[in-house]
Amino acid sequence: MYGQMMYQPLLVSSLLEHAANYHADTPIISKNTDGSMHHTDWAGISSRAKQCANFLKSLHLEQGDRIATLAWNNHRHIETWYAISGSGYVCHTINPRLFPEQLIYIIQDAQDKVLFFDQTFVPLINAIKKHIPNIELFICLDTYNESVKEALPETVFYEELIQSQSGHFDWPELDELCASSLCYTSGTTGNPKGVLYSHRSTLLHTFASCLPDSLNLSSKDIMLPVVPMFHVHAWGSPYVAAMMGCSLILPGSALDGDSLVQLIDQYKVTVSLGVPTIWQSLISSAKKLNSTLPSLNRNVVGGSACPPSMIETFKTDFNCDTIHAWGMTEASPLGTVNHLKGKHLNLSKTEQFNVRLSQGRPPFGIRIRLVDAENDNKPLSNNGIETGNLQIQGHWIVNRYYGQENIALTEDGWFDTGDIASMNQDGFLNISDRAKDLIKSGGEWISSVELENIAMAHPKIDMAAVIAAYHPRWDERPVVIAVKSTTGQITETELLEFYQDKIAKWQIPDKVIFVDAIPLSGTGKMLKRKLREDYGNTLI
Ligand code: ADP
Repeated sequence: MYGQMMYQPLLVSSLLEHAANYHADTPIISKNTDGSMHHTDWAGISSRAKQCANFLKSLHLEQGDRIATLAWNNHRHIETWYAISGSGYVCHTINPRLFPEQLIYIIQDAQDKVLFFDQTFVPLINAIKKHIPNIELFICLDTYNESVKEALPETVFYEELIQSQSGHFDWPELDELCASSLCYTSGTTGNPKGVLYSHRSTLLHTFASCLPDSLNLSSKDIMLPVVPMFHVHAWGSPYVAAMMGCSLILPGSALDGDSLVQLIDQYKVTVSLGVPTIWQSLISSAKKLNSTLPSLNRNVVGGSACPPSMIETFKTDFNCDTIHAWGMTEASPLGTVNHLKGKHLNLSKTEQFNVRLSQGRPPFGIRIRLVDAENDNKPLSNNGIETGNLQIQGHWIVNRYYGQENIALTEDGWFDTGDIASMNQDGFLNISDRAKDLIKSGGEWISSVELENIAMAHPKIDMAAVIAAYHPRWDERPVVIAVKSTTGQITETELLEFYQDKIAKWQIPDKVIFVDAIPLSGTGKMLKRKLREDYGNTLI
């Protein structure tokens, strides 16, 4: 017997409808590329998304066709996003920081038909244009601009296209299982792979992300997504903001620390999301500019491990609670989030701090397990000590990669994340490494993340990556690649001494190499593959 309740498909368009109906005048403020600010609200976003949807309709595309965006976090990007998915097409957000060959690869793989882009990316598009004949229409997300037209003559301009379109549009009642968007993994581990999200998976992920033990959002929040919309939907920010009716402050292309401090202070941002390298520069800028970021009460950090020193600095210097989360493109991205439980409230401050260092526990809708991949995926115990391969299941986890025939799961239906972790009985995860970044020294594993965290805790170090270098006797040994802080004079010996008594002697790195900057991936993560290429033979 079926229940007798209404059935309404879970659709991305319903998020925008909700925001426009009940949070119409909540501000959405974005920074334009020229530094000026643009002010609108959810009603404005909704009506222009509908104008864009009417324009898309005139193109007579087929449902499910892919439409790509190559854009910063700004209001037009949000409008096109909702217009594309809401109309039944697939919104493919492209990461402009990929190498040109990877860009060509993913645009061809997705067979995108239309490309919406910000002006900044004209040179990038010109460089790859002849390799992407599948793009039939190039739309610049701006008003008419002579220099863009000269540089890329086939360009048409967003504002001209939508201005004559009606702001009324009935979003189609799609099947909730239809695809709504497409993101590619950033290729840290090889060729980018497409993950095709559905309306249903996106909505369920959005519900889970808003919860108190996730991002803890409400309509009082003013949210600054620093993580770009091309990095797994800015971790869902434009969706959760619409569901909760949050205000959005969109940073455009200005992701440097000084610009972020200014945005946070001027617009009284309460919550912000980004990868650790972003927070590192925010902290330096805030100190330099003498700001205590008074409005910011929490920041979400994920994408790579958050160094404990960062959580401490945010709390002591800025009275800001850092929410450490773990996720991946294949998980939409939210997998686990760290919030204390009721039973932790009686612990001492130090004990609570120790709980908060981990990547957290799964929200409802996600299940995680640890297995020994070298031993037939034998399940491991959740005793907080044993480490193994982290596998995941849930409503918003990939089933198969875009365009691939094979299911991406183990025989018993789990997705192997490629991460190595331990987990306690409450499901609090500790990611020790990516499987390929672990260092195998004389048959024993060393976690590069643990060694990085120690280096990062040194006041004279700004950033540190630890890689496995080939070693004639031990196969691999850890080597630290570090950037000194601007004020810091530190020698190799001093940094190596800093490791004494913090870890076992045999785990202390063999060498420190100081560099001016650590190469970052398209999503702001340290490019360890490149570092291994450059310094992997330094001990031979
Ligand atoms: P890519 O796989 O292309 O780098 P993703 O952004 O999907 O792109 O990266 C997901 C990976 O990032 C995870 O598998 C994990 O290794 C790492 N990661 C994400 N969040 C954390 C975190 N909080 N701590 C440690 N590693 C993390």
